[in-house]
Amino acid sequence: MARQSERQASTVMVPKGEEQPESPKIHTLGSNELRKPAKRISKVNEQVRELAREMLRSMYAAHGIGLAAPQVGVHQQLLVIDLDPEEAANPPLVLINPEIVATSGALDTYEEGCLSIPGVYLNVVRPSQVDVKYRDELGRPQRRKADGLMARCILHEMDHLNGVLFVDRVSDELSLSGELQRLGFDRNDVKPVA
Ligand SMILES: [Zn+2]
Repeated sequence: MARQSERQASTVMVPKGEEQPESPKIHTLGSNELRKPAKRISKVNEQVRELAREMLRSMYAAHGIGLAAPQVGVHQQLLVIDLDPEEAANPPLVLINPEIVATSGALDTYEEGCLSIPGVYLNVVRPSQVDVKYRDELGRPQRRKADGLMARCILHEMDHLNGVLFVDRVSDELSLSGELQRLGFDRNDVKPVA
């Protein structure tokens, strides 16, 4: 897993932990906000950085490791990821206008969850590696090759930018229906990907 940008000083860091001031609400399965595609960000400015900070607050408050702007009702191509939310000094990763350059042919199965579908954890098959280009929180072009949990997280969050949720990719129909019902979600809010 490439970790080259983790040593850079991040200008969007917020204190970690579940105590967060006024963090935006995360929309849940059934909300139309999660189904609208996100638009490219034309200029990376302080407003974009403040959105990233607000998203990080919501993410940390909910014990998540990744969040996409549509989950807080903002339809812009912005993702935040922090695989070490317990590690105060580890800067989060901010991906603006992410684009997949390539994915591996090799696939992995992994049990995913989502802050927009709290409590539901189900197996999803995805490429095990991804090569992605994006702009960082200072607007600088970046490129990163990721595997393992980082690849999984990038692909999951990028789906959100297209209005796709991980449950749309679950092939085990029985587990899907059972889990959604158990957590009080409506099976009809799943839109299976072709
Ligand atoms: Zn999600």
